[in-house]
Amino acid sequence: MISQKIQSVRGMNDILPDEAEFWDLFDETIRSWLKSYGYRPLRLPIVEPTPLFKRAIGEVTDIVEKEMYSFVDSLNGEPLTLRPEGTAGCVRAVIEHNLIAQQPQRLYYMGPMFRHERPQKGRYRQFHQVGVEALGFPGPDIDAEQILMGARLWDDLGLDGISLQLNTLGQFAERASHRAELITYFERHSESLDADATRRLHSNPLRILDSKNPALEELIHGAPKLIDYLGAESMAHFEGVQRVLRDAGLPFEINPRLVRGLDYYNLTVFEWVTDRLGAQGTVCAGGRYDGLVQQLGGKPAPACGFAMGVERLISLIRDAGGEVRAAAVDVYLVHQGIAASRLAARVAEGLRDRGIDVLFHCGGGSFKSQMKKADASGAGFAVIVGDDEAAAGAVTLKPLRATGEQPNPQKRVSVDAVADEIMSSILDWDET
Ligand code: ATP
Ligand code: MG
Repeated sequence: MISQKIQSVRGMNDILPDEAEFWDLFDETIRSWLKSYGYRPLRLPIVEPTPLFKRAIGEVTDIVEKEMYSFVDSLNGEPLTLRPEGTAGCVRAVIEHNLIAQQPQRLYYMGPMFRHERPQKGRYRQFHQVGVEALGFPGPDIDAEQILMGARLWDDLGLDGISLQLNTLGQFAERASHRAELITYFERHSESLDADATRRLHSNPLRILDSKNPALEELIHGAPKLIDYLGAESMAHFEGVQRVLRDAGLPFEINPRLVRGLDYYNLTVFEWVTDRLGAQGTVCAGGRYDGLVQQLGGKPAPACGFAMGVERLISLIRDAGGEVRAAAVDVYLVHQGIAASRLAARVAEGLRDRGIDVLFHCGGGSFKSQMKKADASGAGFAVIVGDDEAAAGAVTLKPLRATGEQPNPQKRVSVDAVADEIMSSILDWDET
């Protein structure tokens, strides 16, 4: 009987070696970029208590209403959720471990997030984010720094065509008066609202501004603008951010419809968008969330941060022709016969001691078939051990990549000399 195949969960993808090597390289770039701005890593749980997200993200948001993978721990009845984003967990950890009691912190994390959305290009149910958070900094300087960080990263990654959209959400009280006016306005036009907007009208009217329904375009265009309700302090913060961006020569567009899908934001919000990914054009989004630390039970502290969609960025890099050569090993170790295999195993470990990467042939087979595998592996050398070599305490070293005019013949090398021989050839190659 043939058993039925089990497949991955819809919207949750395997990342196979060719792709995963690319991801590793991407991670390295990300880590050194973050280090250059003084950010330090955090590793956080993937599962958190469900109330964390309800309280942080807001009950009336797409994420909490319909996108969370929530379940009850069958052993103790605890309501749990696979994290749909990282800020809530990061702030929970910062409070739990008292991280900002002495000084502000620049922190980052990366890893999978989970949202039950309709899978399509650039939108998955398990996707990956790099999250960057600065806690304890009140001024617009850090908002601007985080925005400028983005610009540098696109450069580091060789990406162009990513542009900056900026807005301010003001403070809670300012939003409240704007919200009242917004409700009045949309109520006057209730016959033109779609089902989503009607549902949001009293719970989260700001989100109507974010609607992607073209039929609402004109109505939204004429809606009261939050910026007209901002006080002097909020305006000064917004101006402060813009000043740094202008000084740095970074172009941006102020988009009054940019409201973000999570409730915890105030003042600065921003998104980095591209038109090269179809409908899923936002690669990075963030802003200030001064109320969240207190909302989650900590001593009030200002904060701001952003998150990047790794799948979307990687697909942009790929489309721009960014390639990564599969990281081949240095040596493929070919061996046959009992004594030869034992010597080969010792040689392999000796080479690894010297920092040389070795793929040790497993599974037997003729010299000919092993040599084929060696060629296909992309290794720079085959190290061959047969009965003759084993008897002589030596190996045959065969360069697999011809360089220059030299034919690079294979040669017999003593076991003790093989590492040096390989190292010096690698150096020669690097010079040419
Ligand atoms: P969108 O409007 O595309 O749904 P969002 O506002 O829900 O995005 P955020 O919560 O701000 O997204 O997450 C930050 C970034 O994470 C997004 O800009 C995007 O690049 C990425 N992202 C969000 N949801 C997904 C997903 N389901 N699949 C892949 N990437 C995602
Ligand atoms: Mg979303």
